[in-house]
Formats: sequence, structure tokens, C-alpha cells
Amino acid sequence: MKQLTFIKAGLLEWHEAKLPTLQADTDVLVRPLAVARCDLDFAAIAGRAPLPGPYAIGHEFIAEIVEMGDSVSSLNLGQKVIVPFQISCGKCRYCLRGFTGSCLAVPPMSMYGMPSNRGFWGGAMSDLVRVPFAENMLVKVPEGIEPKNIASLSDNIVDGWRTVAPYLSNIVEAEVLIVGGGALSVGLYAAAIAVALGAKRVDYIDHDKTRLDIAQSVGANPIDDKAYKQAGSYQITVDASANVDGLKCAICCTEPEGICTSVGIYFSESTPLPLNHMFYKGITFKTGRANSRAGIPHVLELINSGKLRPEKLTTKLATWDDAAEAFKDPSAKVVVAR
Ligand SMILES: [Zn+2]
Ligand SMILES: [Zn+2]
Repeated sequence: MKQLTFIKAGLLEWHEAKLPTLQADTDVLVRPLAVARCDLDFAAIAGRAPLPGPYAIGHEFIAEIVEMGDSVSSLNLGQKVIVPFQISCGKCRYCLRGFTGSCLAVPPMSMYGMPSNRGFWGGAMSDLVRVPFAENMLVKVPEGIEPKNIASLSDNIVDGWRTVAPYLSNIVEAEVLIVGGGALSVGLYAAAIAVALGAKRVDYIDHDKTRLDIAQSVGANPIDDKAYKQAGSYQITVDASANVDGLKCAICCTEPEGICTSVGIYFSESTPLPLNHMFYKGITFKTGRANSRAGIPHVLELINSGKLRPEKLTTKLATWDDAAEAFKDPSAKVVVAR
């Protein structure tokens, strides 16, 4: 089969790969229908992430089931499913607590579309993908929802959701600050979700006109601030800047006893944090990967209610055959569909 392969910064090629096969009776094989480009994929393509090629790219995807192991009974052939980017069994003590990104049944960091030292599971830009623990991993696509509209649910939409949703439910009339610019789409999804969940105010900082316009279109207040000097005070802050100044801005704008979540990956061994400032304000700081499988049903609820329309954040829709070029597009969210 053909598989889109990340070779090095700026270069993606279609390579031949072996078709995956069922390896356990709890596996299914799926055919990807719509694939979204994760913000981390673009960081690698732009040469900003230490993810050495070659590897099969793509880990945000909606697919249809084409083959099932003998013990799979709650799914059907032809069913459209959301595939979480992380492999999770649904039964271990981490999965049971919702930490599906740290499943104990597979090697650490097992996920699709990454270099093989993070577990080799293949990439979504392929004709077929094997899904283990299928009945626990896969989430059915609700009737009436187009795969291309929700392809990023596997990762980036859930990533945006977890920065704001768990806290908004506990704070009345919360004000939210999102510092964007690094994780291109996660910051925008966080903004859209905070608005959808009824935050009193959502401010979105960036220096890119197009992303600022998108933030405004989903109901956030755009703030053009390349220097990340914005001052203010917010109960909930999000660092999606992947920039040390942006991180500091988010933390320093967090009000006493507030919570700041950083989704930007800082690849250097040591990144400065204003701990003294955080101590006196009693700030909670959260970082790490989203727990994809656990978060997907919560975001689907928002989409089903009509409050969140992820397709409004898609900046480029391309055909499958054009993916090698489309994945290099610098806009926030590329989606490829068959
Ligand atoms: Zn990702
Ligand atoms: Zn598990």
C-alpha cells in the first residue's frame, strides 16, 4: 500500500509499505477517510521539532472499519469511527482513570504517525491501519457528521478542550486567556471551546492575522501582540505559543489560585519558569499530552449540541493525492479527505 512518509523538514514522499494484518481477535483494520494535520506534524515539517524521519505521518483521523477480529462484536464493517492518536487498552489502571495517553498495555508513547522509537503503529496517511483493543479504542462517528469536519478530534481538538473545559465548569463567569502562535490549531480550538462553554470573556493573543481572524470568528477577542507583553488577569490561561516569552506571558497573566495549561512542547532540556511568581499567586501549572480516548466523548457532546463546529477552524481542505504538498501549508489546520 502507499503511505505518506515524512522524510525530513520540507519533504514528504509516498512510499510503499506492507499491508497491516489482524494480530489479535480484538483488532480491527480501518481505512482512513479523513486525516487532519496535527500541530506537531507541522512543527516537524517546518524543521522545528526533533522528530527524525523517515516515518509514516498522520495521527488525527476518521476511518471506516474494513476487517474485524473474531471477538469484536460491538462494531460493524463499514462503520465510521474516530481513531484516538494514542494506543490505549481501556482496561489498565491508567486507562480506567482516564489517563489513556499512558496505557500500561503498550510501550510508553505508543501512538500513530510518529518515529518508531515511540512505538510503531503506522501512520494515518495510509490505505489501511491496524487498531488494537478496537472496542475500547474506537469511538463511533455520530450520524450526520462528516468525517472531514471532525478529523482533528483524535488529538488537537481534545488537546484544546482539556485546557479549558474541566476548569470552566467550576468557575462562574470565568475569563480565559489563550496565548497562541506555536501549536497553531490547539490554541484556536481552546478559544472556540471556551466560547462554546460560556466563558465570560476569551482573549486570544497571536501575531498572525489569519489566526487572529479565526479566533474572532469563533467569538474570542483577538489581540495582536507579537512581543507577548499583554497584561491582564485571568482565572484560566493557556500557553499554546511554544515560545518562552509566550509561556511567561500566560503564567504572569494567571490570577491568584488560577490555572495555566501549557500545550506547547518545549524540546530543550531546561525551560525557565517564573516559579517565584507562581508561588506567591498560588498558580496551578499543568502540562503534558492530552488523553485522547478519554476526552473524545466529551468533545463529541459539544459538537452534537451544535455549540462547537470544528470545521470553522479548518484552513485548508485537500484531496488525498495532494497530501504531500498540502501538509506543508503553513495555515493552522489542514485536512485531507478521500
Ligand atoms: Zn498530535
Ligand atoms: Zn490501558
